Amino acid sequence: MRIKKGDNIIVISGKDRGKQGKIIKVLPNNEKVIVENINLKKKHQRPKTGGKKGEKIEVPRPIYSSTVALICKNCGKPTRIGHKILSDGLSAQAGKKIRICKKCGLEV
Ligand SMILES: [Zn+2]
Repeated sequence: MRIKKGDNIIVISGKDRGKQGKIIKVLPNNEKVIVENINLKKKHQRPKTGGKKGEKIEVPRPIYSSTVALICKNCGKPTRIGHKILSDGLSAQAGKKIRICKKCGLEV
């Protein structure tokens, strides 16, 4: 799973195609993600106390991570994610694996 919580993505297939949003949650076990304002489903919320009416609220349902593309924070384009191992021997970051944008090559 390459996408992380907090990433900005664009939906590339399905009924929400073209919409953008932020990842709220990643579900690695079934390769799905929950994105704010994407794939909203109405849910009936039960009243917490007796006698009150329940409310209908819209909640984002999980979508397959393969139907979203990361929007690069550097170049602003939908992109694929690559990986790079930092090799600067003097840096404390050496050996650290980072995600890079396949379009601009910068860390995402
Ligand atoms: Zn980029």
